[in-house]
Amino acid sequence: MRYNIDPRQQAVRDRVKEFAEKEINPVFRDLDRALEKLPVEYYRKLGKAGMIGFAMPKEYGGEGRSNIEYITLIEELAYWDPATALLAAVPELAVYPIIHFASDEQKKKYLPAAASGEKIPAFALTERMAGSDAANQQTIAKIVGNEFVINGEKIFIMHGDACDFAVLFCRIGDEDEGRPKVSAIIIDADRPGFKGFTLKHKMGMRAATTGRIELKDYKIPVSHQLGEVGKGFRYAMATLDGARIGVAAQGVGIAQRALDEAVSYAKSRIAFGAPIAKLQAIQWMIADMGTHLEAARALTYKAAQMQDKGEKFTIEASQAKLFASEAARFCVDRAMQIHGGYGYIGEFSIIEKLYRDQRVLEIYEGTSEVQRLVIAGNYLR
Ligand SMILES: Cc1cc2nc3c(=O)[nH]c(=O)nc-3n(C[C@H](O)[C@H](O)[C@H](O)COP(=O)(O)OP(=O)(O)OC[C@H]3O[C@@H](n4cnc5c(N)ncnc54)[C@H](O)[C@@H]3O)c2cc1C
Repeated sequence: MRYNIDPRQQAVRDRVKEFAEKEINPVFRDLDRALEKLPVEYYRKLGKAGMIGFAMPKEYGGEGRSNIEYITLIEELAYWDPATALLAAVPELAVYPIIHFASDEQKKKYLPAAASGEKIPAFALTERMAGSDAANQQTIAKIVGNEFVINGEKIFIMHGDACDFAVLFCRIGDEDEGRPKVSAIIIDADRPGFKGFTLKHKMGMRAATTGRIELKDYKIPVSHQLGEVGKGFRYAMATLDGARIGVAAQGVGIAQRALDEAVSYAKSRIAFGAPIAKLQAIQWMIADMGTHLEAARALTYKAAQMQDKGEKFTIEASQAKLFASEAARFCVDRAMQIHGGYGYIGEFSIIEKLYRDQRVLEIYEGTSEVQRLVIAGNYLR
């Protein structure tokens, strides 16, 4: 039995299931194996079906859904295919700073096309020397006349290889003293000086691509500054608070799928003349998987409900992300053990793919170590 399902969440689940049977199931394996290139047509299909822009405001072309509904969407998409959940989650992450901190003019220009899936946005924070230490930005925008001239490099940027625009975090000006101040600028990918590259041989989540962005003497009017100078780090951290609940939801979806696959396999696989589900060794693994899953789901829904109520939810988002991403790893690992050799080979089950897809949940949008720092900091304050 699923915890805390209200009719709106059930409607989201039904909608995703219908979409998955028609559009995800026939293609997700090919998207995983063949590409290393963003499947733009598939992305647009997601947009048309309303799976992109689900939580974006209605007045800018989104569906304006609550966080709990959005989290349910991501959980359910992850159940069917984690990479598809990521395709839907990235645009929400990328435009969050625009929704919350940009001018009306910038919102009108960028949000409707992102919500429909017509334009692909990216969230460009990470650099080689600014990963966990995200404030240590080396990308620099100098003001020359009416323009920013930007030089720098971003790495590990979801859809950075295929985006139409990005929210770029960087320093503005030359201030080198102490910790540099981070600002945010909306950049368009079709201007000279912007180059996006696909990062190859990614372990999982392969339908949603990850890129490197090079900016060389890239020029854009200063009107593209997002919010106030020096507030970019605050905007980025506010964005990640919400996005971490989304990562937790990916973990819950993956854990649920792993459990369902394990239960079904354990009932049908015969060893020593009986289904392996009769063996206590298997039952204990299933009991532990179900318990991890439900604890992860409870933490995830709790954080989303707090966000919907307008309460501060930074710690709860970190707890949900930390626990649900580790619960996903636990559940997929046990599901593989229960499947034996049939779990290890992708031809026989989805477990091999889930094993690769889940691993990044403990890395992106703040590693598990960073989540522990955030959580401990709260208790030790
Ligand atoms: C597939 C993928 C997609 C991504 N998408 C995006 C995106 O769209 N946009 C974006 O901006 N970024 C994105 N990232 C970047 C991601 O957020 C970073 O990789 C992550 O924050 C870790 O940074 P790092 O890789 O530089 O590792 P590092 O910061 O170098 O960390 C290395 C290790 O040291 C540990 N560590 C570092 N500092 C501490 C500390 N203070 N205490 C304890 N342990 C510590 C880390 O936990 C980790 O185990 C993505 C990454 C991946 C892999």
